[in-house]
Amino acid sequence: MKAIVKKQPGKGFVLDEVEIPEIKEPNEVKVKVLNASICGTDLHIWKWDDWSQERIKTPQIDGHEFVGEVVEVGPMVKGLKPGDIVASETHIPCGVCKQCKTGKMHVCKNMKILGVDRDGVFAEYVAVPEIVLWKIDPSIPKEFASVMEPLGNAIHTATAADLRGKTVLITGAGPIGAIAVQVAKISGAATIIVSEVSEYRIKMAKEMGADYIINPVEKNLVEEVMNITNGDGADVLLEMSGNTTALNQGIEALTNGGEAAILGVFPTNPVPFEMNTAVFKNITIHCITGRKMFETWQIASEWLRTKKIDLSKLITHILPMEEFEKGFELMNAKKSGKIVLKISE
Ligand code: NAD
Ligand code: ZN
Repeated sequence: MKAIVKKQPGKGFVLDEVEIPEIKEPNEVKVKVLNASICGTDLHIWKWDDWSQERIKTPQIDGHEFVGEVVEVGPMVKGLKPGDIVASETHIPCGVCKQCKTGKMHVCKNMKILGVDRDGVFAEYVAVPEIVLWKIDPSIPKEFASVMEPLGNAIHTATAADLRGKTVLITGAGPIGAIAVQVAKISGAATIIVSEVSEYRIKMAKEMGADYIINPVEKNLVEEVMNITNGDGADVLLEMSGNTTALNQGIEALTNGGEAAILGVFPTNPVPFEMNTAVFKNITIHCITGRKMFETWQIASEWLRTKKIDLSKLITHILPMEEFEKGFELMNAKKSGKIVLKISE
């Protein structure tokens, strides 16, 4: 089968011919991949940055966001059959640790990540445990289904606080921040302010329905937020840039007693953070990782099925698998929203 593979350490991937994976465990499901979308994590691996050099073992098939059709099931699989259309959670939980047993599977202590710790989905077939697969209603467009993971990130972050009637500031309108605009809107936010530095993504945030978009390079973000809110500040910050300046500006732009939900991953650890500002304002901080398994998947499915969420403006490119390189270049230049690769018909 065809697969996009990191053959050896270094930048880029190659389109290679590899063995079709077989079902190895009784709980596994073999899926024919239809569409797969490119995520920021894939871009890190494509660039071969410090994190990837430490984490990725080559050769390995990349990719983790996908929609596919079940072609074969192991003998212990109970809920799926050939022909079912599925998307997949990337985080493969162990099912037995304290977190898994207490409803926190998304922070499983023994988590394995698809396309990071094991072969991924930029391939014609993949075999994964049944537990991570999520059945897709046939009415949901396949392109949208392959983007349910970042949609789930946005939902997980935006549902950490009650947004009803609130002024919400979203820092960073990459694919996840852009989806968060729609998520915040249907969650009842009264006013949505986005801060973003890339012109392409400013346009995308506008199309997604943000009420105000501020480029913090051109204008003082905190002053602008204060003007919009009559000097009060935003009620909730959704940090989706992974940029330290944006994080600190976001905290400064919050009203006293506000809330911050932080999804962004920052380039340095520890992160320089204006903690005293947050303390004196009595800010509640929610740190977000992954998606709730499977509450956010349930919400994402129903919002897509009932067309409350429309991802057509978010998916800016649909490319044949062979043109993956073009997809990565566009992502790298921040000249895209979500890029979907067509793997099979
Ligand atoms: P992305 O990098 O495509 O988007 C980030 C956006 O922030 C970009 O459009 C960029 O132009 C913008 N930005 C950069 N500096 C800014 C600044 N000073 N002010 C305002 N905007 C600024 O990333 P994404 O795929 O949309 O993901 C968003 C963030 O969430 C990233 O940091 C990513 O690493 C992180 N993430 C976290 C998890 C998790 O489980 N916690 C999962 C997925 C992604
Ligand atoms: Zn576990």
